Amino acid sequence: TEETSQKTTRTTCPYCGVGCGVLATRHEDGTVTVAGDPEHPSNFGRLCSKGSALGETLSLDDRLLYPEVSGKRSDWESALDLVAYRFTQAIRENGPDSVAFYVSGQILTEDYYVANKLMKGFIGSANIDTNSRLCMASSVAGHRRAFGADTVPGTYEDLELADLVVLVGSNLAWCHPVLFQRLEAAKAANPAMRVVVVDPRRTATCSIADLHLALKPDSDVALFNGLLAFLAEAAALDRNYINRFTEGFDKAVEAAGPCAIGEIAEKTGLSRQDIALFYKMVARTEKTVTVYSQGVNQSVVGTDKVNAIINTHLATGRIGRPGMGPFSVTGQPNAMGGREVGGLANMLAGHMALEDPHHRQLVREFWKSPVVADKQGLKAVELFQAVRSGRIKALWIMATSPVDSLPDADGVAEALRACPFVVVSDVTRSADTVPYADVLLPAAAWGEKDGTVTNSERRISRQRRFLDLPRDVRPDWWQMAEVARKMGHGEAFAYQTPAAIFREHAALSGYRNGGTRDFDIGAYGDASDTTYDTFPPFQWPQAVDGSAAETRFFAEGGFFTEGRKGRFVPVACQPPRKRERAYPFVLNTGRVRDQWHTMTRTGKTPRLTSHIAEPFAEIHPRDAARLDIQPADLMRVKSPFGSVDVRALITERVREGEVYVPMHWTDRFASCARIDAVVAPDTDPHSGQPGLKFTPVAVSKL
Ligand code: SF4
Repeated sequence: TEETSQKTTRTTCPYCGVGCGVLATRHEDGTVTVAGDPEHPSNFGRLCSKGSALGETLSLDDRLLYPEVSGKRSDWESALDLVAYRFTQAIRENGPDSVAFYVSGQILTEDYYVANKLMKGFIGSANIDTNSRLCMASSVAGHRRAFGADTVPGTYEDLELADLVVLVGSNLAWCHPVLFQRLEAAKAANPAMRVVVVDPRRTATCSIADLHLALKPDSDVALFNGLLAFLAEAAALDRNYINRFTEGFDKAVEAAGPCAIGEIAEKTGLSRQDIALFYKMVARTEKTVTVYSQGVNQSVVGTDKVNAIINTHLATGRIGRPGMGPFSVTGQPNAMGGREVGGLANMLAGHMALEDPHHRQLVREFWKSPVVADKQGLKAVELFQAVRSGRIKALWIMATSPVDSLPDADGVAEALRACPFVVVSDVTRSADTVPYADVLLPAAAWGEKDGTVTNSERRISRQRRFLDLPRDVRPDWWQMAEVARKMGHGEAFAYQTPAAIFREHAALSGYRNGGTRDFDIGAYGDASDTTYDTFPPFQWPQAVDGSAAETRFFAEGGFFTEGRKGRFVPVACQPPRKRERAYPFVLNTGRVRDQWHTMTRTGKTPRLTSHIAEPFAEIHPRDAARLDIQPADLMRVKSPFGSVDVRALITERVREGEVYVPMHWTDRFASCARIDAVVAPDTDPHSGQPGLKFTPVAVSKL
């Protein structure tokens, strides 16, 4: 590994999609301290509260440290023999679509690559999906509709170079803190910069907002369709860009309708003045970046929201140039890396398209595989519904806890109870999914494993090992390669190191590419082990001949659609969703500043748990008064799927008629606080992403 001194290792933070570089120093007494890596171009030495507490989260106290079968200690040979046998048996008796993998944006690109290759190329099913489906699937679908590929056009630097940054459904201050720090510093240095926050809640991010648009949940399409119409009516379009590089503008404008501010105010719940002010700011500011995150993606209309935003950038030609562009920030550390290897049920490796016969042929040829799945697999929510209905006979869950994090989480628990064979690979024993495993496989944790991750600006960084692997713990890629070998595919999975996997992944990305696909890191296809160990963070593409090396996309067209034109996607504003009288509130869920996902790591350090010690529900003062709820009273939030009992936090941060509950607390940390047991399993029809921010609920005082 690359060492800056005898015991300091250069690695990457395992939490959010900012992907900060970290210097981890192992001391003689076994403790580890961390600091931001000043040479990493995504964070330049900065870390947030979570990242800086990483050294305090490395204890072995709740770790899975040996394989278990049916609750009893086992050994790797026996456990993996059983996994291979049960998967082979299910495939033989019920076909390849009777098995599934459910993986995670927490695993490394090399792990993801092996999982995807095994399922799509050797088992012959596309039933591999990931918790990244909960994170950014709507952005992927929106990118593919508009750009012909899942391409993020810009870089973090664009937020600093912009004169107007519009943050939509993004609490950047808490969810991507270092990127927020960069934006905050840029705003301080450029007093002319304006920041607009579009979010139903008044979040910490509003501390730097010049304008906060607290719109009704899921009314974003109305706001951005109105903006497109306004730009057209105000002649604030880039006609040259539209004519030369795009198609479908007229239909998109027609779908958006006229810019009737009164109607938009009605649909969004915003004032006419604020809407007009926002539209004028955008029309007048060339250097505009629109950042969007889970408030956009986690919606049953998430893909349409993404395209409504992208339409406004295509219409103004503000894309791929410094300080301009639509910008999706992902939640997880490797949500992007997973996309690159095709870790979603509707994608193929190397950003290739599962539905494209040429791409399937190309991947099959490269892998020398017997088959390549030719139809989409089951996406996360439908996958667990298929488990529940008995269609899935063998399931392997890796580095995620669906019993805590999927909507209708109690339904997921029921599905796992009914599933004939469940394998769970994880680091921790404390996830609520662990008790449902027939086979438990102990996985390598952050600091113990080696590989790569890709952050939200397409930057690939190394995660490096600086701790010894506990004796009976193994990396995820090794577990899957061993099972592949036991299933008869040894030759194609004879990897000895993550470097070998990365080389294959890189070579596939450049294989017969020639600039026809966005993702290309072919230049690393023959990287030596030493190069792999020492390579600095880099952005893709990195084609073999260097021809495609660029940090931004689409300033001069060059989209990845058939005609190489960017596509306007006509999107219609959906009428408000019908709600039963018994469930008059809208439940919104999200993060708090100092916790990560289900707290299996961040919950270990008092420094982080002291920020917010217990789960809560934010409720507006007028709603609280109506329900006789006092501050810190226990209140119940209930849907047809389940309920939680949490303390009331009475605040005007939320809109009247809405409640906000954080996603982190599981049964391990608090009883009756697993909020995803309350969330409805409704999904976006294009992306399959669940609407985690809109569930009709009832609220009462306990
Ligand atoms: Fe880690 Fe994200 Fe914080 Fe950076 S901003 S230190 S990647 S959690």
